[in-house]
Amino acid sequence: MSIKENLLNIKASLPDNVTLVAVSKTKSVEEIKSLYDEGQRIFGENKVQELLLKKPLLPSDIEWHMIGNLQTNKIKQILPHTALIHSVSSFKLLQEIEKQSTNLNICSRILLQVHIAKEESKSGFSFSEIEGYFSSGDFKNLKNTSIHGLMGMATFTDNQQIVKKEFSELRELFDKISSNYFDQNPSFSTLSMGMSGDYKLAIECGSNMVRIGSLLFGER
Ligand SMILES: *Cc1c(COP(=O)(O)O)cnc(C)c1O
Repeated sequence: MSIKENLLNIKASLPDNVTLVAVSKTKSVEEIKSLYDEGQRIFGENKVQELLLKKPLLPSDIEWHMIGNLQTNKIKQILPHTALIHSVSSFKLLQEIEKQSTNLNICSRILLQVHIAKEESKSGFSFSEIEGYFSSGDFKNLKNTSIHGLMGMATFTDNQQIVKKEFSELRELFDKISSNYFDQNPSFSTLSMGMSGDYKLAIECGSNMVRIGSLLFGER
């Protein structure tokens, strides 16, 4: 099947409230353009250099999302070019985003990445770090950074029970933070979970943003 057909099939399987991020890492600008021509506007990259290289070669109304691990020294470069950063996984990164956004006089939209998988290699905040951060009230001091929600990656396994449990726990955390701290502020509204192999389960568990690469573009 062509990548355009893949897009149509995936779109047809998504409920209206679920946003598709087309994960275009390692894929060419031609491939990205062909999905753009079918109406796709949100693309996700996991490397700063790759995003910065592709962006000027493609239409300017594309919303670029950063989904990969970030280093603090790349933050300044990437901020003006991203609509949403999914992968804010430490307080150090959050602090740097706030600092650089203030310097640039922009407001950056971010998600906090939560560690839900069994693999230690995956990054993210622990549940208690997230709860501690919000209960401390420190998030109210952010002036140029807007926390739009949470992101998580489940364990890479065929065991659906494990994946379902991880997604459900993240959804519970999301609901709790949302109702306890963002009741008057609907900006905290994005729960980014689900990739090619597990996006349907993620949606069942309450995801409203899925990040799909290989199912769309083919294996990398
Ligand atoms: C690569 C990547 C994806 C997409 O993975 P697929 O399995 O190809 O759909 C989603 N999220 C993150 C953070 C990624 O790095």
